[in-house]
Order: sequence, then C-alpha cells, then structure tokens
Amino acid sequence: MLSIFDDAQTRLTSVFQHIDLDNDVRERLRRPSLALTVSIPVRMDDGRLQVFTGYRVQFDDTRGPTKGGIRYHPHVSLDEVTSLSFWMTIKCAIVGLPFGGAKGGITVDPRELSRLELERLSRGYIRAIADVIGKNRDIPAPDVYTNATIMGWMADEYSQIQRQQVPAVITGKPLHLNGSRGREAATGQGALFTLEQWLKTQNKAPESLKLAVQGFGNAGYHFARLAKEMGFQIVGVSDSKGALFCEEGLDPDTLMEHKRTHRELKGEIYCAASVCEQTQKHYQQMTNAELLEADVDILVLAALENQITSDNAANIKAPLILEIANGPVSSAADKILEQRGITVLPDVLANAGGVTVSYFEWVQNRNGFYWEEQEVQERLERIMKKEATAIFDLATERQSSLRTAAYLQGVQRISGAMVEKGTQDYFNNK
Ligand code: NAD
Repeated sequence: MLSIFDDAQTRLTSVFQHIDLDNDVRERLRRPSLALTVSIPVRMDDGRLQVFTGYRVQFDDTRGPTKGGIRYHPHVSLDEVTSLSFWMTIKCAIVGLPFGGAKGGITVDPRELSRLELERLSRGYIRAIADVIGKNRDIPAPDVYTNATIMGWMADEYSQIQRQQVPAVITGKPLHLNGSRGREAATGQGALFTLEQWLKTQNKAPESLKLAVQGFGNAGYHFARLAKEMGFQIVGVSDSKGALFCEEGLDPDTLMEHKRTHRELKGEIYCAASVCEQTQKHYQQMTNAELLEADVDILVLAALENQITSDNAANIKAPLILEIANGPVSSAADKILEQRGITVLPDVLANAGGVTVSYFEWVQNRNGFYWEEQEVQERLERIMKKEATAIFDLATERQSSLRTAAYLQGVQRISGAMVEKGTQDYFNNK
C-alpha cells in the first residue's frame, strides 16, 4: 500500500498531465521545504518523565507564511503530517489566501492525559518548535483532537518566549484570547456553502435530500447542525465508536448534548461519550463501515484519512460525497468512484472554510480590530461560493473531476507565484 504522502502525490502527477508547468514548479511541489521532528519531555502527574514525539512540516511558503493545524492522535506520523502540509499548500491557494501550507502533530492519545499533562505537553511542543513558527513565518491552528483551549495555551507560551503579545502566531484561539467570531463553526459552514453552491448547479433543494455524516467532531457536528437548519435531513452520524442511523432524521444538537453530558473527565475537555450510546427504539446502531455504505443522497466524510479505499469504493451508494476531512478518499478509490459516476466535492475546496476564518483571525489580530459574526459569515460565504463556482466552471471546461479542477486552480496560483519569483526559464531569459 502507498504511504499517505505517495498517494497524495499520485493526485499531483495526474494533475500535471492537465497543465503546462515549469519543471522547477513540479520539482518544488514534490517535497516539503522543512520537516522537523522534536522530542517533548513532559513531567506526568505521578512524577514520571514521559517523552512524546512531535512534528512540524512546512511544505511551501511561496505564496506567504505557512499555515496549518496541529493534530493530537496516536497514529500521527511524519508521513501523515507531510501529506496534510501538502494539502494545506494546495488548499490555501485554491481559496486565494496569502498563505503557504504547513501542518503539525504529536503522537499521543490525548484522552489518556490529565488536563495539566495536556497543558504541559502543548506548551512543551511550542517551546520545541518556537524557532520555526511566527506570525510572519508559520501559523498553527487546531485539527483533530486539539481545540481552542489548547490554542490559547500555545499562543500564551509563544508570547512568553517572545516577551511580547503575539496573538497572530496561532489561530483558532478562544474568543477571550483574541480568537475570531465564527471560527469554531467555520469548517462546517464553509462545507455547507460549497454543497449549497453545487446543488444549485444541479437544481436540487436541501429539503429533498438525506445525509449521513461520518465523524461527529468539531467539523462534522457544526456541519450537521447548520445543514439541518437549512432543511437537509440528517439520517446517520458516527464517531470513532460506532454509528447511529434513523430514517426519520436525527437532531445533531440532541446528539451533541448527549455526547457532552457523557464525557469522560480524563483530560476533561475531551468528550469520550459516543453517539452510538444514544439508543432508542427507532434508532438503528451500525458500524462505521456500514454507515459509509448507507443508502443516502449525500455521504459527508468528516473523520480521518483513507475511509473510502479500493476495498469499499464499489459498495458506496450515495451519488454525492462531501469531503470535510482531509484525504478521506484514496486515489485508487477516486478512480472507482469516478467510473461509477459518483461526484466528490473535494477536501481541498470543501473544508477550506476553517483556514479561511483562521485567515480572518490572523488579519484581526494583526490589526487589533475585531469583526462582528455577520461580517465573518458574509466574507466566508463570498470567498467559498466564488472559488467553488470557479472550480465547477473549470471542471466543465476541462471535462475533469471536481478534484482535478480544484488542484488545477491551486497549482496554477502556486506556480504563478513561483514563476514570478524566478525559475530556470526566467534565468534563461525565456
Ligand atoms: P475532531 O477531533 O473534533 O473530530 C473528529 C471526529 O471523528 C471525532 O468525533 C471522532 O470520534 C471521529 N472519528 C475518529 N475516527 C473515526 C472513524 N473511524 N469513524 C467515524 N468517526 C471517527 O476533529 P475535527 O477538527 O472535526 O476534524 C475532522 C476532520 O476534518 C479531520 O480530517 C481534519 O483534518 C478535518 N478538518 C478540520 C478542520 C477544523 O477546522 N477543525 C479544518 C479543515 C479540515
């Protein structure tokens, strides 16, 4: 099986066939500019010293300082973080943000740590990578199993190291620590704007459509909540422990309330209760794998990478897939889905709402002037719908998948910036 990064690069190779690119650009997009591995010693509550491994990868900064989240997960690896940094590079270009791409992570199951251990780990990580981040260099944000509280600790640690307030070094912070209004729901909201725009091209209304959402975390929950408000019917949801299905429709707020009240307080800010515990007569419990193959109009993937692979792509029944997670469909599965006529709204466009509002937070921090929620929403909607429309038009013009069109839009912008800075052709006076 290909590594995640090799798989991600396979997509790039196929995009290169559609575009006339300077060879320097192709070479530069093949590997990250910086890949840092750090050891983070943490004094545990029982007095032991435990050393964790962390990463920060900056893929490309041609279009601006690099930007990308920090993931805490037992399976975090350099391969995964590098792939995520590559996707961030493409994504920021796709939505026209003045950023390159980066990503970070720590190999840890945060649910096994106490709150104080988690804080020490988060602050230790920032001390370990402080030399390579900065508001003009590389700006982290939350990702899987990290949240606003952790971003607040990290921004504080960085400010202490610098001996000055530097809120713009990290986004996704709590509101009281100069976060942006609308950041928490931004990824789900941005995905919904993308879906809305796509359905408009298909003359379909939300009221007639049934959705299943894999991954009921930050992105998946807010998406499901807002989608229900818009009239979609949420018939299935899942988390790491299992899935729930209900033909008559589920209420995301009730489910989230249940998850919150059943949380395990190890690590306190983590919600360990599972959506599948909410069993009532008319709810059907399923495995995660079964939910992916459910008979719905739209399958929303908001958990982790490689959920649809060549093993299950032939069994997917939904005619439309919305990728909120990064890399949930492997490149081999992509081909099978395309042959079967299943449309995929790709991650690099559909989940860009999070980084877009992170960009707004960075702008607000730098200006010291904060926007109302409505301003954030309006700006997000304008960017998402404009870039989505451009990609849908490009796909029609090139007779390509939406993913290829999205990559084309991103790669063209990155390539434009690289060429302007000077490539071999430029120095050869061509
Ligand atoms: P999160 O930690 O808040 O939620 C992840 C959810 O996925 C949890 O509910 C977890 O139980 C569930 N999960 C894990 N493994 C699963 C499995 N095998 N099947 C079903 N559910 C499973 O993380 P998040 O921030 O919501 O991120 C989810 C995805 O969205 C990630 O791929 C992330 O990179 C991507 N993303 C997030 C943001 C953001 O702003 N949060 C932005 C862009 C992309």
